[in-house]
Amino acid sequence: MSPIRTLDSLPLHETNGRAVFVRVDFNVPLQNRVVVDSTRLHAALPTISELQGAGARVIVASHLGRPEGSVNPDLSLRPVGQALAELLGAAVSFAADCIGDAAHETISRIGPGDVCLLENLRFHPGEKQNDPKFVAALAEPFDLYVNDAFGAAHRAHASVVGVPKHVTSRAAGRLVIREVQALERLLSEPSRPFIAIVGGAKIGGKSATLLNLVPRLDALLLGGGMANTFLAAQGKDLGTSLVERGELDTAKEVLKLAAGNKTRILLPSDLVVTDDPEAPQTVETVTADSVPPNLMAVDIGDASLAEFTEEIRRAGTIFWNGPMGIFERPPFDRGTFAVARAVADSAAHSVAGGGETVSAIQKSNLTERFGHISTGGGAALEFLAGSLLPGLQALQTTPTG
Ligand code: ADP
Ligand code: MG
Repeated sequence: MSPIRTLDSLPLHETNGRAVFVRVDFNVPLQNRVVVDSTRLHAALPTISELQGAGARVIVASHLGRPEGSVNPDLSLRPVGQALAELLGAAVSFAADCIGDAAHETISRIGPGDVCLLENLRFHPGEKQNDPKFVAALAEPFDLYVNDAFGAAHRAHASVVGVPKHVTSRAAGRLVIREVQALERLLSEPSRPFIAIVGGAKIGGKSATLLNLVPRLDALLLGGGMANTFLAAQGKDLGTSLVERGELDTAKEVLKLAAGNKTRILLPSDLVVTDDPEAPQTVETVTADSVPPNLMAVDIGDASLAEFTEEIRRAGTIFWNGPMGIFERPPFDRGTFAVARAVADSAAHSVAGGGETVSAIQKSNLTERFGHISTGGGAALEFLAGSLLPGLQALQTTPTG
């Protein structure tokens, strides 16, 4: 990948008093219009503070949820502005629209070192469509652009790929650089053994990542619903488990690729099965080739856990995406939490990504003990699939494509 411009390349001495458009990922969970998890706000602070310190007028923009191109008060970023103000210990002005008079007035009112937040970009259909008129309206007040929204870097949306084309200077923020460095370290000369632990519900959406990683890995550990499909591809009967019948060929392709590259595949040798994860009457552990026809696999068993833990203990580099079971419903959280603990305890360079995976790590209070926790699940998977993310391409020193 051609290098991407960093904040160091921005003419910061010239930003004094100049308006900088900063695309962040403030797609945070809200309950009753209050921010309940501010991880993504924290992650953007280094860039925002650095620009403030340089005397820029910092105009922050993000999407929130899926308003599908129209105004939805429940998905207003206003409460996020309040949470950001608390974190910064400074006022954050709010513009009730990301373009037009409301935006221009708020932007013109703030002074050097001040921050304002624009309303949800996705209230306009032009954001997702990368509509040239919307791009022009969004970019109008700016000649400096910073992208610190790693979680949106895989989307060719107006604020990600359109606005940077309209400005004279563009750069990646500190979070984007940190994410790219952590992920690049996995792809180029990882300390060995290099293992990936992949789980979650489905193969769909992760197959390109699996296919790109498998030749680079020493071992691939599979759990969760994802493992069921691999076990089914080996001819095992999985009862009422979640199995993606349409992905059996993908699973076979991954197994074949692994065999050809001498990458070991570890599938669960035993599984926790139940009749109903919501209201379990029966919970038992069975071997992976003896799942009863009326039960479903909802976690990896103790024998699998011991095998996985041993691999994790010996690893030099670990990538983890996807829980090992339906961890939202105890007791089916055991495998996931034990894997989180094992990765935290290992001396390996560890990188984790994925919405549910990160929430499981946070629930275990192990966040600090991971090498890197990606703020962008989908973007991290696409990066590791070997794609050049559109948002990063837009920041390259020598643009390609
Ligand atoms: P991430 O968000 O970390 O990328 P995914 O979205 O791929 O992870 O998958 C997370 C979901 O997978 C969780 O909600 C979990 O309940 C579900 N899951 C894990 N194992 C199973 C299983 N055996 N059967 C059904 N769902 C599962
Ligand atoms: Mg998820």
